[in-house]
Amino acid sequence: MARVVILGSSAAVPEAGRENSHLALDGTHGAILIDCATTPVVRLQQAGIDPARLRAIIVTHFHPDHTYGLSILLLDLWLLGRTAELPLYGPAHCLDRVRTLMDLYGWEQWTGFYPVSFHPVEEREGAAVLENEDFTITASPGSHTIPCIGVRVHAKASGRVFAYSSDTSPSAAIIRMAQGADLFLHEATGSGPGHSTPVQAGMAAREAGARRLLLIHYPPGTDREAWRAEAEAVFGGPVELVRDLSEYPL
Ligand SMILES: [Zn+2]
Ligand SMILES: [Zn+2]
Repeated sequence: MARVVILGSSAAVPEAGRENSHLALDGTHGAILIDCATTPVVRLQQAGIDPARLRAIIVTHFHPDHTYGLSILLLDLWLLGRTAELPLYGPAHCLDRVRTLMDLYGWEQWTGFYPVSFHPVEEREGAAVLENEDFTITASPGSHTIPCIGVRVHAKASGRVFAYSSDTSPSAAIIRMAQGADLFLHEATGSGPGHSTPVQAGMAAREAGARRLLLIHYPPGTDREAWRAEAEAVFGGPVELVRDLSEYPL
């Protein structure tokens, strides 16, 4: 059965035991990484995912806490012997900067480097991202300080729907994206531009008619039970603050 594995759960500042927010979709036919923090090869191994099974990477936006692991991952996959093309998906704003960053590292000179392809995701609601044997993935723009997408994942085998807000302040587009989701993973960073409080995440889940709300991107030292209860009071359904390496069936 497919699953989503939380590889990191923290906001931009991590803490012991909690890395920056990123996750993996693990299907029967391979894995897809959503955002890329920390040392991904190690994190994937800890999650029981062979890095060689990576089929695609989706980067939601070009903030360091969501992208800083990408350059070392691309390098490591080459050193581990990857030859298959690796497609990258995300807003054009983000992909352009990833390409510039890799150019600064001189990746053109890496002999025998596998092909990396860039697939900009349109900045509109319900934009197609990718489809494979396991998943159909679409995206909608959130409301953040730079272009950023949330994703909706349809697991083909089970019919279950998983939605991930990425970083966003309360957003009607993200709520529409998550309509009827079995699992809605919403950020809860607290008050501040481009982010949401646990109460706002709970309201989003209620308006989306989601079955279960998972909170991610919460800051170090969060009173987890208090935030869970705040979100649950407005959502009216089950709420959980995710932890690193927790996983959920899709
Ligand atoms: Zn972030
Ligand atoms: Zn951000």
